[in-house]
This record gives sequence, C-alpha cells and structure tokens, in this order.
Amino acid sequence: MLEPGTSVRFVKGIGPRLAELLAAKSIHNVDDLLHYLPFRYEDRVNPRGISELRAGEMATVIAEVRNSGLFHTRRMPIFQMTAGQGRSRLKSIWFNAAYLRDKFKPGQMIALYGKVEQDQYSGELQLVQPQFEIIGDPDGSIDAAEQKAAASLEVGRIVPIYESAGQGRLTPRWFRRMIRTALDNLPQDLPDPIPAITRQRLSLIHPREAMWKVHWPDPGESFADLQASRTPAHVRLIFEELFFLELGLELKRREQKAQTGIEFKLDDLAREAIKKILPFHPTTAQKLVLKEIASDMGQPSPMRRLLQGDVGSGKTIVAFEAAIIAMENGYQVALMAPTEILAQQHYFSARRILESAGYRIVLLTGSLEDNRKREIRRHIAQGNAQLVIGTHALIEQAVEFASLGLVIVDEQHRFGVLQRFKLMKKSADERAGTAAPGGPAERRSAVSAEPDVLVMTATPIPRTLALTLYGDLDVSVIDEMPPGRTPIITRRVSDDRSIEVWDFVRNQVAAGQQAYVVYPLIEENEETELKAAIKMYKELNNRVFPDLRVGLLHGRLDSDLKEQTMRLFQKGEIDVLVATTVIEVGVDVANATVMVIEHAERFGLSQLHQLRGRIGRGAGKSYCVLMTGGKISEVGERRLDAMVRTNDGFQIAELDLELRGPGEFFGTRQTGLPSFQVANLIRDRQLLEAAKREAAAVLDGPNQEISKAEIDRALRHMRARWQRTYGLVEVG
Ligand code: ADP
Ligand code: MG
Repeated sequence: MLEPGTSVRFVKGIGPRLAELLAAKSIHNVDDLLHYLPFRYEDRVNPRGISELRAGEMATVIAEVRNSGLFHTRRMPIFQMTAGQGRSRLKSIWFNAAYLRDKFKPGQMIALYGKVEQDQYSGELQLVQPQFEIIGDPDGSIDAAEQKAAASLEVGRIVPIYESAGQGRLTPRWFRRMIRTALDNLPQDLPDPIPAITRQRLSLIHPREAMWKVHWPDPGESFADLQASRTPAHVRLIFEELFFLELGLELKRREQKAQTGIEFKLDDLAREAIKKILPFHPTTAQKLVLKEIASDMGQPSPMRRLLQGDVGSGKTIVAFEAAIIAMENGYQVALMAPTEILAQQHYFSARRILESAGYRIVLLTGSLEDNRKREIRRHIAQGNAQLVIGTHALIEQAVEFASLGLVIVDEQHRFGVLQRFKLMKKSADERAGTAAPGGPAERRSAVSAEPDVLVMTATPIPRTLALTLYGDLDVSVIDEMPPGRTPIITRRVSDDRSIEVWDFVRNQVAAGQQAYVVYPLIEENEETELKAAIKMYKELNNRVFPDLRVGLLHGRLDSDLKEQTMRLFQKGEIDVLVATTVIEVGVDVANATVMVIEHAERFGLSQLHQLRGRIGRGAGKSYCVLMTGGKISEVGERRLDAMVRTNDGFQIAELDLELRGPGEFFGTRQTGLPSFQVANLIRDRQLLEAAKREAAAVLDGPNQEISKAEIDRALRHMRARWQRTYGLVEVG
C-alpha cells in the first residue's frame, strides 16, 4: 500500500534517479504524483475516421504509419508522415523537425492530435504539427509487455495527456503508467477528511473516486467539463486544496486573535501628539483607516491589519500616526521597507514629520558601518530608539528590542502569506528570549505581549485573492486620493521620436518641474542592462541635457551616494533623475511631474503603475511617457494600452492578474505564495469563496452540523498538508 505521504521513490518503477527528475517538478510523494493532473484529455473512445475530418477542427486520429520523410524547402526542413486507416490516408507535417527523421516505422499504430488544415496546393486535409504518441509497434522495438500495458491505457478510452518532464524523459505515457500504479496501490478505505456537511453542501465526491476519475475519466464524461477542469472529480480536488489552505489561514487568524497583545490607549495625550505632527488635513479615507487601526490597537488581542491603498494615496502618514500611538504608550516601533532606498526615504520623512515632536528615530540599513550598526542596535536594545526604520532583512534578523509594540511592514506586495507567517513567528521567538528592561516605558504592561502588525501594500488585490493571500489579516482600504491631484496624462511614444520627448522634458524643467527617466533592469540581464542605463545617463548628461543637472540612481551605488542623490533630487538640485526601478516603491518628490520610461514594453503592468505613481503627487500636471522600441508582444500591447487608458490601480491589478496569472503576479517563488497543485485562483474564485466559508463553519463547530471528531480529522489533515506542501509546521 502507498500512503499519500510516501516518497515517490517507493512507487514501483520509479526509484531514486527518476524521483530526482520528479522533484524538479515539485513531485515528492505519492500525493504530489496523484495531483499531477493531465493538462488535457484525448477522446480515443471514438477516434475519428480520416474521412470524417473537417478543416479547422482539433482532432484525435488513430492510424497506422505508412511512410515518412524529411523534405527540404527553401526556408526550412519539413518532416512529413503519412498514416492510414484502410484506404484512407492522412498526411501530418512538422516544421523544422529533422529530429523526427528516424521516429516512425511503417506498420506502427499511432495516435495523433492536432489541428486539421487544408493543404493550400493539393487541397487535401492534413494535420499540422500534431502531437503524437506511438501506441503499437509490430516489430517489437517497444518492449512487448510495455506495449500491451500501454495499449490498454491508450486506446478505446479518454486518455489523459500529461506534460512531459525531465527533459522529455518522463513522457505522458510514463506518467500514465506511474499514476496508474499509484492509484492501484492506494488504500481502499481512504477516509474523507472533509466534514460530511461540507461535502453535502458542495456535492463533493469521494477523494478516491475523484483521484481515479480525474486521471481516467468515464467514457461518457463531458469533454467540455474535462477541459475546463469542471468535472465532479476536478471540483472535488480543487475544493479540497483550497479548503485546507483556508482552514489553516482561518485557524491562524483565530489563534492570533486569541493571543495577548498590547492594549494601546488613544487618550488625549496621544491625540494631541498626532494633531501636532500632521502636515495637512487627512482625507476622509485616511481618518477612517486610522480609526480602524487605533481601535485594533486598543484591543487586548494583537492587531493583524492590512492597509491597502493605491500609490500616492497617503499610507505613510497613517503609519506614522499609528507609530505615535505606540510611542506615546511607551513602546517601540519597527518600520520595515523592502529596499534600502525606501527605508531611507521613510527615514527622511519620519525625521521631517516626527523629530520636531521629540521622537527618537534611527535608521538601520545593511550599508552602515559595523560600528555604527552595533551602536544603533544598542540604542534599540536599551529602548533609547523609539522608531526603528530599516530593511526587512536587517530588522528581522539581528535586532533585539527593549519593548517592541508595533511592527509596520511597508509594500507588502513583495511578501506573501507564508513568508509573513514565518516572519511573525520569528518575531515572537525573538521576543520570548528578550527580557524587557525598565527604560522609558511607563505604561508598558509587564507580561511579554505580541506586538501589533500593520502591513501596507500598494498593490490593489481583487477581493477573493486578498482573502487567500491575506486571509489571516483584517483589511483597511484608502480609496481616496489626497486633494488637489490632477490625473496623470500617459502617452506612448516610439523611441525613434526621442528627440521630441527630450525637448518636452527640457520645457518642463524650464517651467520649474523635475523629471525621472527610468530604465528597465531585469535580473537576468542585470549586468548588461545596468551598463545600458549608465551609458544612457552619460548620453543624457553630456549630450542631450548638457545645460541641466542630471543625476543617476541605481541599486549598485553605495548608499551614501544614493542618499546624497535622493536628497539633491528632493531639494530640487537635480533636474533629471536617471534611475533604474529602485525608485519603483515609495520615492516621494512632489515637484517631479514627468516620467519617461524607456523600453516600457519590458516592464510588468503593476510595475509600470507603481513607477508612474512616483509622479502626480503635487498640484502640477503630470506626464508619463512610455517609450517603446522594436517589436512588442500582444500581451505587451495590452499592458501599454491599459496604462494609457486608466490610472485606476484596481483595474490595472485585475488586468495584470489576468495577463500573468497569480503565480507570476505575486512572484510565487520569492513571495511564498502557496503554489497550487490543482487550483487556479482566477478560474476557481467561486470555489475559493466557498472554501473560505466552509473553513469558517468548521472552526465555528462542533455543533449539530459537524462533530468534534470530524473537526479533529480535518485539522489533522490540514496540518499534515501544510507541513507537506508549505513546509510550515507551526500552523495550528
Ligand atoms: P503612498 O500611499 O504611496 O505611500 P504617500 O504616503 O507617500 O503615499 O503619500 C503621497 C504624497 O501625498 C506624499 O507627498 C504625502 O505627503 C501626500 N499626502 C498624503 N496625505 C495627504 C493629505 N491628506 N493631504 C495632502 N497631501 C497628502
Ligand atoms: Mg508608501
């Protein structure tokens, strides 16, 4: 018998070497293997007769190889193969396919799947670039036993087609056989971990049945449902995955609520302190959001709140207000930013806004000298520093706080839910080992309590996705821009018109404005692209704008220089700032009203929107110029179109999500977003909502609908699953 958690090495026919190839596909155990679903199916129950085919359709044909050969045309080699059924014949062609030269032998049975087209010369129907599988071989060059086993799985039924793996070594056929073996050895009495009432409400079929049918559908199964992943078997598996994810998130959320936090008081003293620092009247949205935050902070349970607001909506001041509440209560605050530049930026604003009120603020970044770092850490540990601003990496790793009360995480879109769990866990561990000494915290409670956490993001996230990504957080939204903003005008310009663009920049500068010129810097080509950016800086500085003050900002500069450049730009002593995407988040210079983005087609949509958010921050009219060069992909066109059409971050996020899919949208790898085995957050939104609802219902029990035993079983299953798939042991 094979348990779901058994390593694939122990599946008959796999072994250590192939297991390694599977690991590259994130297939480690039997459960992973069984969740490697076909990406499509072929109807070989009633394969098509050659004479019934019609031009334009996709078809599966099973036929016998008659002859094949490679033809050279002027442009490329074309491989042709003719297969027949009785007297009917059908030609298949593959372009540039010399590698097929020795593939086919007359007499072999072959399954072909592809588009039927009419040959423009002969008028005959043919298959163009079909996928194929040799399913029978008369001269026995395929092992006879294998052939028989394969044949029984590959004709006369709906056949699952899997993506190949291991550089083609693990073929669809191989997967079919291995998955079949795994299914055959699955325990008969696999219990269903989903509670009965949930199964009933969603008409879920049993997991064992679902596993079988998703790989080996019944001959009568709807083909449309199969391709859309909407058969009862698919629904069961997708729901299950989402349900146990949501169960973990919901549990986490409830646990966090049950922890002891700090009851911050928002008394007149704190209110006065806030009023004193405000440089402007907050918007209604900002007020509302602060109220929600202050109310959370006043609760005995720790705050876990997400603050969403489009770029430029004014999140920083809200964060500072929350910081004041914590500091007035005698606690320290950590403000974490994803980049050093952004940390510096926050540090400047914090000093500008908070220092005159007497708060002690420190900046802790990696580029500080070791001595200085040590000194700052001492200040933090002794409680002298009240507001600590730094990069995530630094604050997470090596800092002991005397009395940390509030953690503010900025630009959370770079972090996913799992990573955040790890981070919060760590902060809890660390504090457990840190006794809070006396110091200035008069109102501090004696017991070690969980600090409040406020997460800020500028990525507007569609609601259902927010439920998953931030299922453990309460959400506040700033849905209003500060007054006096004029919408940004966005235009596309081909880069052969750069002279006009530079003239425009010059005119704006003459009118007293400042400009950004942004170059793409994509990790894979960092070196060459950095060189290109630097070269363009020289070109702009020496040739195009010899009369203007041009600055350069990129991630590799040492931080003193970065800081100096930012400061000069902020003070208006640089007219044109040439930058890579280091300015993507947070940089805030209201007088900069022009942004030229070179090679705009290379940026992602959300990134373009983030970049554009750097301008349009003051009363002056702002312009974003998207320069493009060369050929642009269709997706690229849609991104640029969207940028020209709208300034609305939510619309942009929706479209970006659609264009890229959730994995890429959130940067699955880096962000620790759970990568799904079978679910797809866009396609399966409704199931996600249902999963969330049902998970909450389970945790509201036991009651008449759901027994204690069922809840325990579900939780056990959830833990095992989280541990297996997300590597998180501590959940639950
Ligand atoms: P983000 O939400 O992108 O972090 P910021 O907090 O940087 O936005 O705010 C953008 C700009 O708007 C800043 O220059 C800030 O000083 C200004 N701002 C924020 N709130 C207001 C307000 N209520 N009235 C006027 N200006 C504001
Ligand atoms: Mg910000």
